[in-house]
Amino acid sequence: MKILVFTEQREGKFKRTAYEAISAGKKLATELNAELIALAIGNNLDAQVNEFGAYGISRVIVVADARLQMYSTTAYAKIIAEVAEKENAQIIFLSASQMGKDLAPRIAVKLDAGCASDCIALSVENGDIVATRPVYAGKATINVKINSAIKIFTLRPNVFTAKTTDAVTPTIEKFPVALTDADFASKVIHISVATGRPDVTEATIVISGGRGMKAPENFQLIEALADTLGAGVGASRAVVDAGWRSHDEQVGQTGKTVSPSVYIACGISGAVQHLAGMSGSKCIVAINKDKDAPIFQIADYGIVGDALTVLPAMVVEVKKLLGK
Ligand code: FAD
Repeated sequence: MKILVFTEQREGKFKRTAYEAISAGKKLATELNAELIALAIGNNLDAQVNEFGAYGISRVIVVADARLQMYSTTAYAKIIAEVAEKENAQIIFLSASQMGKDLAPRIAVKLDAGCASDCIALSVENGDIVATRPVYAGKATINVKINSAIKIFTLRPNVFTAKTTDAVTPTIEKFPVALTDADFASKVIHISVATGRPDVTEATIVISGGRGMKAPENFQLIEALADTLGAGVGASRAVVDAGWRSHDEQVGQTGKTVSPSVYIACGISGAVQHLAGMSGSKCIVAINKDKDAPIFQIADYGIVGDALTVLPAMVVEVKKLLGK
C-alpha cells in the first residue's frame, strides 16, 4: 500500500500545512505498514524537499517546470492524478487549504476516488482509515470510511501537528509529466500579499473584528495587536459585506474555516454562521460590550467591554509580556 502526500508550497517555500500532512501521513503509514511518498510540484524545489527527511520522509517525487512555479488548478490536478496512478497510490493526502480544496475533488473525479474533506482526525480500524469530519456547520462530527479503491483525504490546517522524527536522507526522484498549454487552462499569474501577516487558515493566533469595531479605520487596533503577536487578521461577514475588510479575511460558513491555538473575536456577536468557521479554535477569547452576546457561550475567556479601549490596553500588556 502507498500513501501519497501532496506538499503545498508558495513561491518555493513549503507551507506548514505540508509538514502537517506529511506527519499525518507518516503516522498512518506506520500503522498501515504502507510506503509514504511526498509529492512536490513547482520549480527549483530540490533543496527544500531535502528538509522532508527531518519528518521521516524517505522518498520524494518532484515535478519541476518553470510554468509550475505559480499554481495552476488544471496542471497540478493532472500531475497529482498521474503520479498517483503511476505509483498505484491508494491513499492521497492534501491539506484542506484553498489549494487543497480546489484540487481534491478534481483529482477524485480523475481517479474515480472517494474524498473525505476537512478531516480533523484520522484513525485505523481493521485496516481501514476512519476520518472524523465536522458537519452541520461544525455542530457535529461524523466518522467516515471511504469504500472506493483510491481514497483522498484533505486535512484541516492547524489540527494535525507537524512532528520531526528520526531524520532520514530522502531519495528525490524527478517525475516527467508532458504538459501542454491546454493543461494551463487556468493559472495564477500574480500573488499580492499586501499585509505580510499569515493567512487566517494557517495562523496560530487569529484576531477577528466585527461590526462592533464601529468603523473600518478602527481595525488598526486589531492590526496592532496582530502584529505584536504575529497573528492573522480575520473578519465577520458583516464587515466584509460592508466593504471594511476583504473577503479573504472572512471567517465563517461562507468564509474560511480556522483552527488556531487562540482566536480573539472583537465586536463579533457570535452568529451561528460565524461560529461555523471558528468553533474548532483551541482557545476562544471574546471582547464584546454586551454580556449576553452569544459569542460568550463558546468563549474560554470573555472580556465585557468596549473593544476600542480593550484592544489598545491589550497591546500595551502584550508588549510588556513579550519584552517588546
Ligand atoms: P453583529 O451581529 O452586528 O454584532 C456586532 C457585535 O458587536 C454585537 O454583539 C455587539 O454587542 C458588539 N459590539 C458593538 N459595539 C461594540 C464595542 N464597542 N466593543 C465590543 N463589542 C461591541 N457571518 C460571518 O461572520 N461569516 C460567515 O461566513 C457568514 N456566512 C453567512 C451565510 C449565510 C447564508 C447567512 C444568512 C449569514 C452569514 N453570516 C456570516 C452572517 C451572520 O449571520 C451575522 O450576520 C454576522 O456574523 C454578524 O457579524 P457581526 O458579529 O460582526 O455583527
